[in-house]
Amino acid sequence: MGQSEAWGAADGDLAILRARLTEHGDLESAASLLRWDQATYMPQGGAAARGRQLATLDRLAHGCIAHPEIGRLLDRLEKTVASSSNDPAVVALLRVARRDHERAAKVPSDFVGEFANHRAASYELWTTARPSNDFASIRPLLEKTIDLSRRYASFFAPFEHVADPLIDDADPGMKASTVRALFAELRQKLVPLVRAITSAAPADDRCLFQSFPEDDQLAFGKMLAGRFGYDFARGRQDKTHHPFMTKFSLGDVRITTRVREDDLSEALFSTLHEAGHAIYEQNIDAAFEASPLGHGASAGVHESQSRLWENIVGRSRPFWRAFYPSLQKVFPSQLGAVSQDAFYRAINKVERSLIRTNADEVTYGLHVILRFDFELDLLEGRLAVKDLPEAWRERFREDFGIVPETDTDGVLQDVHWYDGFVGGAFQGYALGNLMSAQFLEAALADRPEVTQEIENGTFDTLRSWLGQNVHRFGRMYLPAQLVERATGKPLGIEPYFRYLRSKYGELYDI
Ligand code: ZN
Repeated sequence: MGQSEAWGAADGDLAILRARLTEHGDLESAASLLRWDQATYMPQGGAAARGRQLATLDRLAHGCIAHPEIGRLLDRLEKTVASSSNDPAVVALLRVARRDHERAAKVPSDFVGEFANHRAASYELWTTARPSNDFASIRPLLEKTIDLSRRYASFFAPFEHVADPLIDDADPGMKASTVRALFAELRQKLVPLVRAITSAAPADDRCLFQSFPEDDQLAFGKMLAGRFGYDFARGRQDKTHHPFMTKFSLGDVRITTRVREDDLSEALFSTLHEAGHAIYEQNIDAAFEASPLGHGASAGVHESQSRLWENIVGRSRPFWRAFYPSLQKVFPSQLGAVSQDAFYRAINKVERSLIRTNADEVTYGLHVILRFDFELDLLEGRLAVKDLPEAWRERFREDFGIVPETDTDGVLQDVHWYDGFVGGAFQGYALGNLMSAQFLEAALADRPEVTQEIENGTFDTLRSWLGQNVHRFGRMYLPAQLVERATGKPLGIEPYFRYLRSKYGELYDI
């Protein structure tokens, strides 16, 4: 989209609003930079002061966006500019600014303080409760988290479902009812598919677990991220414990990875994943820089981009036709005798597993749906925290045919419920999978040459289709609108299921 007149020549209230929003964005970027440093290079001795510095910046940022003056500016602008402006960027800016302002202003600051303290205590306890398999110790804190999550939701009443405000935080415009319907349909199809695959002969993935020197892994991953179109002149990659992407400006979008010398897939696929997030942020319309429109649309849309590059492209046959010979050259003693087909099967091994973050493409959705369903049950009061571990085991038996022996590998495995609200924490991962396949189907219908280009090791057509139809808009459209605009259809499960069925049907001969 070109820079429109009203957008470029903002004056009066609109200019004042934009200056205030930029100030808010700058405070948030400064906090993000401190968080990036904390997760990469900060010496341990910096922890206490860094916690205080982040709390200060967060408080200033909150005060900035919640300020009544922003509310007054929006009141006036919504009457004048929004009704007279046919500039979609300005209309979107007012909608997004209103949303961000109300999200901050409707929540009383004593609640913000209470939740921050509770969250810190809960996270602290989780770091010991998880390894010692001690759900009982953290149970009262999780009960309080659920109370606080309900109270948080109540600030946004009225709503259809108590989880709606929490879901809306991560995936704007999405509701429990919509997500529940999509997930129920998806689960119905995934359970029999997993059953069929896991009764076939298992794939052999031992070739991935040899010794792979760190430097060679990092260099190869960077080469691939660059080929995808991640611009290292406006980015960089560093090491961390839990890989993430972070953006400070359009000119500085960073990724992180974690390397294991005894497991080739760890750094390789986390690099492709985070590069997917970064390519999205690097390709948002430059006119939106330093405004609240200049970020990805939602958790789900973001995951659609990371998973598209990591899985749909990065675990495909055409992709490895292009790159397996160079990977073999980097690791001749490890992979020289491993065929391309054997490698492809290894990186797409499907198995019933206990841990979400290690799950393959096929079972992953079931891990997410289980958590989403429990969030609704807990918030509705239909499931008590004391019954959660047993409910987890039962559901696992039903969906996966296996049962975790410990809560460490069950209800304690993910940090989300112990370091944030219960509600809205997980659906984005599975919505992202659905969107990724729907975007790719639409891209292929428009530009069938994409597959051949991937096989040649080039990605320009795919990346520019995504740039044109998804990336450049930032937060201008709600996720559901963005999907419909880009693909001509509302978000559904069919493209994703077709993708899984055809890929894994061939792989496992079912
Ligand atoms: Zn991600």
